[in-house]
Amino acid sequence: MHFCVKIHAVSFFVKKVSPERIRIISTLTVSLFIMFLVFTLTGIVMKRALKSAEEEYYESCEQVLEGYTTSINLYIEKYYASMESIYDEDFFMNADSREIQNWIISRKKYMDEDFSSVAYIDENKTGWFDDGSVLDLKDTTSTVNEKYSEGKYFVSNIISSIFSDSPVFLISKQVYDSSRNVKGSLTVSVKVNVLKNITRKIRIGHNSSVYLQDRNGRFLIVPDRDYIGKDFFPSSDEYSKYSSRYISESDFGMVQTESEREQLINLFYRKIEGCGWTLAVGFPVEELDMIYTRQNSTRLLILVISLCSLVVLLFFQRKIQDSFYKNQVVDFAYDPLTKLWTRQRFEKEASRMIRHNPKNIYMLVESDISGFKFINQNYGEDTGDRMIFFYSQRINRITKEKHGIIGRGYADRFYSLLRVGSVRSAMSVFKESIDELNESIRFFDIPFFPKFGITFYRAGKNRSVSIKELIGQVSFAKSSIKDNALKSYAIYNSKMMHRVNEERKMELNMEAALKRGEFIVLYQPKISLADDRIVGAEALVRWKTKEGIITPDKFIPLFERNGFIKKLDFFVYEQVFKFIQSQIKKGGPIVPVSVNMSRNHNKPEKFMHDFLYLFKKYDIPSNMVQVEIIERSFMNTTTLCDITNLLHNEGFTVAMDDFGSGESSLNMLTKIPVDVLKFDRTFLYSSIGESGSFDYKGAKFIKILIDLSKHLEKQTVFEGVETVEQRDFLRSVSCDQVQGYFYSRPLFESDFIAFMEKFR
Ligand code: C2E
Ligand code: CA
Ligand code: CA
Repeated sequence: MHFCVKIHAVSFFVKKVSPERIRIISTLTVSLFIMFLVFTLTGIVMKRALKSAEEEYYESCEQVLEGYTTSINLYIEKYYASMESIYDEDFFMNADSREIQNWIISRKKYMDEDFSSVAYIDENKTGWFDDGSVLDLKDTTSTVNEKYSEGKYFVSNIISSIFSDSPVFLISKQVYDSSRNVKGSLTVSVKVNVLKNITRKIRIGHNSSVYLQDRNGRFLIVPDRDYIGKDFFPSSDEYSKYSSRYISESDFGMVQTESEREQLINLFYRKIEGCGWTLAVGFPVEELDMIYTRQNSTRLLILVISLCSLVVLLFFQRKIQDSFYKNQVVDFAYDPLTKLWTRQRFEKEASRMIRHNPKNIYMLVESDISGFKFINQNYGEDTGDRMIFFYSQRINRITKEKHGIIGRGYADRFYSLLRVGSVRSAMSVFKESIDELNESIRFFDIPFFPKFGITFYRAGKNRSVSIKELIGQVSFAKSSIKDNALKSYAIYNSKMMHRVNEERKMELNMEAALKRGEFIVLYQPKISLADDRIVGAEALVRWKTKEGIITPDKFIPLFERNGFIKKLDFFVYEQVFKFIQSQIKKGGPIVPVSVNMSRNHNKPEKFMHDFLYLFKKYDIPSNMVQVEIIERSFMNTTTLCDITNLLHNEGFTVAMDDFGSGESSLNMLTKIPVDVLKFDRTFLYSSIGESGSFDYKGAKFIKILIDLSKHLEKQTVFEGVETVEQRDFLRSVSCDQVQGYFYSRPLFESDFIAFMEKFR
């Protein structure tokens, strides 16, 4: 049974993404990736650089601090050494205070010139000064202190001098008596002023400011000299915590704070061991910020540079690619779905293969999936894709086993080229392969059948055929079995070539033939099975040439392809109208005549307009004309509905031609409001063959369909009734009418009139 709901495909599928688009998308992706990479890498590198720059900054700040600390220590050591130089242990042990004072006076000139005064201070806190004065120091700042550095010397905080306004600090050295008890101290006072030399002579770093503060946080060195002898509290709330006293209290550290000059600084500080003072060095915060800004601008620069180079790169890449395309160096070699070669690549490789071994015999096979368009439309593109992929793998395996090459053409089309020993051996291998292939594709969830076109080629001495021509041959061979469900392959031969030539000839002559009246209309009667009387006829065209009559199967497909059929159809219509009119005028017998409307008429309004225009020229009732429409794979049901409705409006009846031929589907039964269903003759043959073979299931199906049609109030007509068995069967299942050789072949006008006379 062969009522297969199958629509032959001018296969359309594949979500089309243009190569241009793919190219742009891939370039963009790569660019983005590169940008991302550049970004992350610079990020990492910059982060490292930043870290080391920061480290370097802190290190150099520490070094500056260290440098100043060392200088201060050196100063104090120098002063101490100077004190030591006049100190004689034996003398100091035994001498009394006055003697010591005289000793000092006599030696003062050998001592450091920075000393503003030198004194011996005894246990009673009486000061014996180098200028001869003796002062009671009980009420002044404690100079003799418990805290001597390693028992060597003691350095005081900043104090105001008892002799002048300028602030001083004191360095004392303990003096012992003969029983090694402390009896007093040798004390020098140094004007704080002298310390400014430290910052003047030694200048470390560019923008650093140096602070030296005593144990109470009062400044000995400070850029703003007004602060000497004072301590400092930053005015802003944020930093008020970091007073100079606070700094003096810890051993070392770094804080961000505000300086006495209201500048934001990073303050590095450290306690000086010998004296307990604190040295602090401040660096403007902008300096560190500058590192960050520099860092950021470098980063921006890198970004801009990489962006620019990317643009330039892309530009060149495009230029290069374009030139490749122009010179055909690059093509999209691989099909994205199947990963096979594209047709272009296949053609290139096939030509190369043939060129390299021109003496061989080659077999080119084109295959596609029967009714693929239907599958694609009904099961969805995803299933279509899946099927193509599945099929491609099978056919690829078989081709590769035979050492052939394969490529994918448009949609479901595949091409394989194989080197073969002989045509005969190749064909026997091919047949085995089809069996194997059909066996393996059975496992797909939807049944499908591949069809093949084959051609053989051997380069002749003075004849070489291009791969494109060979592809044309296999396509032609395959198209010849398009509608033949029983054949799965066709081999291209010169007969086909002959057909091509014939078609070319027909195409050249068709217009002239129409004018010369070479096209004639025959009428094939339609018989009512109830009473064996003629109830209608179908107008069928013939081409009468000098060589003989050409049947429509030779020229209609060609005219459909070149569009001439539209003209020819209207020619036939006019002949039919004329004939009916003349019969009516004559009072001769006449029956409704159906005319064929080719699938090329795809604009309902235009067709209707032209049809009516012609029809109105003749004086005949519209119920004498029936139009046979045919379902078209490229036309949706709406268009067919429109045509039917327009014809109905004008009083014509409409028949669906070739119902069940493989072009039509069951769903149109209900959707398109035709009056008549004309069952295709292949339909009948599959249930009751010409030889009288009877297929029970098929027959039953026909009965069901006829019942269904009756239920839907459609008339049923069977075409191609050739035998009495077929006629009897159709009568038994209450088919309305038949058309076939059993009753009559298509007849010339005169014979048809005679037939009507006889069977009316
Ligand atoms: P069709 O419309 O299905 O026409 C029926 C075809 O079946 C006709 O072939 C007819 O001669 C043939 N036929 C009728 N009874 C029998 C039978 O018992 N046995 C066999 N084997 N064949 C039978 P024909 O005239 O060769 O036309 C072939 C096709 O060409 C038509 O099929 C139709 O599709 C097309 N055609 C013919 N004339 C025209 C026309 O004027 N315009 C258009 N557009 N198409 C036409
Ligand atoms: Ca027809
Ligand atoms: Ca038909």
